[in-house]
Amino acid sequence: MAVIRDVMPAFELLQPNSVAEAQSLLEQHGGDAWVLAGGLDTFDWLKDRIKRPKTVVDLSGIEELRGIRPTSDGFEIGAMTTLTELVQHPVLRQQYSLLSEAASVVASPQIRNQGTIGGNVSQDTRCWYYRAGWPCYRAGGNICYADTPEGRNREHAILHADRCVAVNPSDTAPALIALDAKFVIRTRQGVRVVNAEDYFIGPDIDITRLHILEAGDLLTAIQLPSLWAGANFYFEKVRDRNVWDFPLLNVASAMFLSNGRIDRIRIAVNAAAARPLRLTAVENAVRGMPANAATGEMAGKLAVQGAVPLQFNAYKIPLMRNLVKRAIGGVEEAKWAS
Ligand SMILES: Cc1cc2nc3c(=O)[nH]c(=O)nc-3n(C[C@H](O)[C@H](O)[C@H](O)COP(=O)(O)OP(=O)(O)OC[C@H]3O[C@@H](n4cnc5c(N)ncnc54)[C@H](O)[C@@H]3O)c2cc1C
Ligand code: SF4
Repeated sequence: MAVIRDVMPAFELLQPNSVAEAQSLLEQHGGDAWVLAGGLDTFDWLKDRIKRPKTVVDLSGIEELRGIRPTSDGFEIGAMTTLTELVQHPVLRQQYSLLSEAASVVASPQIRNQGTIGGNVSQDTRCWYYRAGWPCYRAGGNICYADTPEGRNREHAILHADRCVAVNPSDTAPALIALDAKFVIRTRQGVRVVNAEDYFIGPDIDITRLHILEAGDLLTAIQLPSLWAGANFYFEKVRDRNVWDFPLLNVASAMFLSNGRIDRIRIAVNAAAARPLRLTAVENAVRGMPANAATGEMAGKLAVQGAVPLQFNAYKIPLMRNLVKRAIGGVEEAKWAS
């Protein structure tokens, strides 16, 4: 299907100054409205004419959605805070460096200056077929073009596929899961606060979106609890090119050690499935064990249990095994190296 990249089709642009006003506009326009944050994902869809909203609600004028604030239990990040702000914030760099590091490897400096944390965790999948307007399952059709013998599926899922084999491409999402972040959502019914891992959904729940937001909902902030501040962190992203590129896989872990043994741990990977995966079986298996290469080896094997490769992405299985291995064993190695 040809992709047209000339001027964008016309839409009504609404620019509210407050969350309350934005929400009322979203309620008024229902499914016809599109939330605009930094525009990096949004404008691709609009320019390619694959998504054609009648109304766009631009959040850029809402001051209350910006900034990083201390709370009684950690920090709160407004959804419109840019990725660059996360990278540069001195306290985040010191106490929640996992998130700053994940944000620092998103795309390019220009994209990080414009892209927001709310947009980064709410962005859509990059599956070629879907982005080019092919009428696949995710687009309402009855076929997956990527899951065919000749399909281009090198970047696609190895776990939890259900008709669609596309993955979530966010680099910050696994870091937020490892930090046990809470997502604050304004819905018609009021404010809802969900655990980071519950913000994301797979095609088994809804094949048309990667997160729980419904028409009219707004992600307003992300809270980082103090419980994981200053933990031993590990983040690693593997991509085709070490300039701007989406992850082939990434891993994020946070752990506290006691006498060299893992006391508390959270670990997540992304780009392995349609939602970032918290690896709870791994967390349970390594608690109480030394954070060394042998424990990492065991954790890596456990992490990929049940993985099913497509025609061109079998490499992701050893890759994920090794990322998990390093995320656990790497903490001790890093300590010795420093
Ligand atoms: C060339 C390129 C390379 C990239 N590489 C990477 C990469 O390596 N790693 C990575 O993680 N990301 C990457 N990205 C994504 C980028 O980081 C953006 O952060 C992300 O696409 C969207 O952020 P945005 O603020 O521009 O949001 P937008 O594009 O405006 O919004 C994205 C989606 O989220 C919804 N949304 C945004 N904010 C809210 C909110 N507060 N409430 C409800 N819905 C909301 C919008 O409606 C839209 O559907 C890349 C993007 C591009 C264009
Ligand atoms: S992987 Fe998902 S988004 Fe891509 S073609 Fe298949 S159904 Fe569509």
